[in-house]
Amino acid sequence: MYTVAQLIGGVWGAGGEGGELVVHDPADGSPVSRAPVATADEVAKAVEAARGVAAEWAAAAPADRAAALHRAADAVEAAAEDLAQATTAEMGKPLDDARGGVAAGIGTLRQYAELAPVRGGRTLHGGHDALDFMAPEPRGVVAAITPWNDPVAVSCGLLGAALVTGNVVLHKPSERTPATGWLLARALDSALPAGVLSLLTGGGEVGAALSGQDVDVVAHVGSTATGRAIAAAGARTGAKVLLENGGSDPLVVDADVDPLWAAEQAALGCFANAGQICVAVERIYVHRDVADGFTDALVARAEALTVGPGRDPGTQLGPLVDRRHRDHVHGQVTAAVAAGARVRAGGTLPEGPGAFYPATVIEGCRHDMALVREETFGPVAPVVVVDSFSEGLRCAADSPYGLAATVLTGSMSHAQRAWRELPVGTVKVNAVFGGAPGGAAQPRRGSGHGFGYGPELLDEFSTVKVVHLEAPGRGHW
Ligand code: NAD
Repeated sequence: MYTVAQLIGGVWGAGGEGGELVVHDPADGSPVSRAPVATADEVAKAVEAARGVAAEWAAAAPADRAAALHRAADAVEAAAEDLAQATTAEMGKPLDDARGGVAAGIGTLRQYAELAPVRGGRTLHGGHDALDFMAPEPRGVVAAITPWNDPVAVSCGLLGAALVTGNVVLHKPSERTPATGWLLARALDSALPAGVLSLLTGGGEVGAALSGQDVDVVAHVGSTATGRAIAAAGARTGAKVLLENGGSDPLVVDADVDPLWAAEQAALGCFANAGQICVAVERIYVHRDVADGFTDALVARAEALTVGPGRDPGTQLGPLVDRRHRDHVHGQVTAAVAAGARVRAGGTLPEGPGAFYPATVIEGCRHDMALVREETFGPVAPVVVVDSFSEGLRCAADSPYGLAATVLTGSMSHAQRAWRELPVGTVKVNAVFGGAPGGAAQPRRGSGHGFGYGPELLDEFSTVKVVHLEAPGRGHW
């Protein structure tokens, strides 16, 4: 059992007067971690303490901050297996996936450590005796509020980028993965000056208290509803708000593709991490010409997955994060079936402990069903048959979200139309996942705003000071 401690003002074990929360293993319901809950007063004190060391960290040489981040990445690397084990124990994903998430996080820390010190601003020559330059500066105090679905990778991105650009950071990890957040904070803190990183634990009320504080940036990765509450808080406090939120990513399957390969892609997109990925495939628009072969192959893939606890080698489909979330997933499936859709695989609540949910394929879905329009965040593949690629694109574009979308097509002209016409932050052609290392993403509409990844995140956590220099008395230098 992990016993989590908070880090406030450089002191481990501070606060926690708000009570205690216990996380249960989603595979069997056994208790995994206990974590303190911060009070609003502790949150306020943590922000005040962070503000107190902000100027010193901001004044550190960029190369020194980068060296500290490299040492922090070394410490995370040394704790990598513990972090992966904690992730799997707290949120259930297969251990190899958890290891992959930790490795991705370490890679991001190192990438930011390399990129940050070489950043510069523009220089303009207004005249022979005048010069303007733009100097990036840290924004100050950053609140980073993170989710549970890939806790190390997501947190390393936000924390690494904010710290290396000279900000002090208060991290509030998800209440579903507090031990993972604590192990990460311990590793990072071991390489940083005291007080530069703080860790506050607890639920949404702690996140709300933090985002209502006098901070300079609130960076939130999580659900759209939470993102909107944070945006409202930011409108009151004046903090910059960076939101990487939910999605309902479409997959459009064109008439000219191999239905077996398309089903393989769909299965990966829908069932990896039990569908609990922000850019998971949430709805499928398949051309009528290939729909039968595609759906049959997808059903076969869903039924072939090895289901079990994430810690068992060979598990391909772990449990959902908890039963509350499983109820949400099953509720959407049940509503779609009540409205006329048909279950081809899965779709029933299994007996036994834990929060398992089977890989589910539902055919006969319509574009207006909640299962199709809303984020499900579970291992569910709703299939909508369309009569043309244009209809598929039209449906794909019609969404309150704007995170990412995939098209599978052999037609260059359809691929070109897809990236031009889909109003999302990322368009993928012929692969549901992937993308070059360091790739950035800028979601739209209900999915948030601002860059959440990539070198551009360094800019999000920086502000720019414009300096105009002129020779005195209109003379010469
Ligand atoms: P969530 O928004 O419920 O929780 C995320 C964090 O916000 C947690 O730390 C939580 O305690 C905190 N929080 C909750 N209510 C709050 C409030 N009122 N004010 C401030 N903070 C609050 O999301 P989740 O369930 O942990 O994560 C799943 C969601 O995250 C999905 O919608 C998924 O799509 C999204 N997600 C998006 C991305 C992306 O890059 N776009 C990446 C991963 C996950």
